[in-house]
Amino acid sequence: MLNISSSELLISTIPDNCLSTTFQESTVRDLSLYDFQVDNNQVGEIAALRLESEPRLPGVILMEEEQLSGMISRRRFLEYLSRPFGRELFLKRSIKTLYQFAYTDFLVLPANTTIVEASSRALQRKTDIAYEPIVVEIEPNVYRLLDVHHLLVAQSQIHQLANNLLQELYLKLETAHKELELQASLDALTQVANRRKFDQYLAEQWFQMSKEEQSISIIMADIDCFKGYNDTYGHQAGDRCLKQVALAINQTVQMITKANNENLVARYGGEEFAIVLPKINATEAIYIAEKIRLHIKSLNIIHQASSCASKIVTLSLGVATIIPQLGSSIEKLIAQADQTLYQAKTTGRDRVIYS
Ligand code: GH3
Ligand code: MG
Ligand code: MG
Repeated sequence: MLNISSSELLISTIPDNCLSTTFQESTVRDLSLYDFQVDNNQVGEIAALRLESEPRLPGVILMEEEQLSGMISRRRFLEYLSRPFGRELFLKRSIKTLYQFAYTDFLVLPANTTIVEASSRALQRKTDIAYEPIVVEIEPNVYRLLDVHHLLVAQSQIHQLANNLLQELYLKLETAHKELELQASLDALTQVANRRKFDQYLAEQWFQMSKEEQSISIIMADIDCFKGYNDTYGHQAGDRCLKQVALAINQTVQMITKANNENLVARYGGEEFAIVLPKINATEAIYIAEKIRLHIKSLNIIHQASSCASKIVTLSLGVATIIPQLGSSIEKLIAQADQTLYQAKTTGRDRVIYS
């Protein structure tokens, strides 16, 4: 039987529809496959003519009684023809004759072999035949030829795509991680930093200021008589008030220290807020605390049940400052701020105390 059709199937690179997340599952069926089968008993000239006129044909598949019997690559075929008397010896004789000389192992793969697997199988062959075309069985007893160069181009595209995908995935993960970290450091109700972040940030800045021998201040602020506010206006109104107070504290700190974005406003717990102010001395910290107190008053949030002099929501604030040194500790600084806050409470509330 003579079969010399040589329709070139598909394209030489991975088609667009394979550029999905499943591209790693692309099979050799998705690549250019060459259809050139010749019966073993045909003369060599038939194959020679086709190979010479179609430079992209990677070789010829040999059939005998409609069964696969061999494969000769273009390189080997033309090499035998170019030997002394090659054309005289082989062109008029059956291809079988040439194949007796040109025989090598050849790789047959089913068409559903993945490109990744096929590349690996191709390159596992001995060096001298690693680039021989691969015989692909597209149906039982129906074969096509695959150029290893095409296979490797496709494999490198897959590699590139996998890299891009990994890169994309990495960026997404990084963004998600940052978002998570941010969420984990925020107080859900007031959207200022939470206690965890406060502790972590104060420790970092404490260490940094001790190296730079600079002062660090903290302000502790507590809403006066807040239980009464909840009792009078309800818990939800209390929550809204907490949000307003947190926002106002944050705005004041940002406004006064706008050149310095190292300050941190945190919800310390319940209706207490704490502010970390690196590189801020006592005078500056007292000024900031006083501005916060006035800002909260200016919100004019009515608080009829307040036992303070004014019937609006007010803040008491305690300020502490230190240049961290050997022997001093974060706990002492916090205790000092707590103590000054306590003094602000016991001396009438709605005031700033520093000691
Ligand atoms: P004072 O300011 O009067 O010196 O005393 P204090 O801090 O010890 O107690 P205060 O009367 O201010 O009461 C604190 C209240 O804060 C108790 C609690 O109901 C309220 N509180 C704590 N967390 C929340 C919250 O998330 N939402 C609301 N609505 N209220 C809260
Ligand atoms: Mg309190
Ligand atoms: Mg209070």
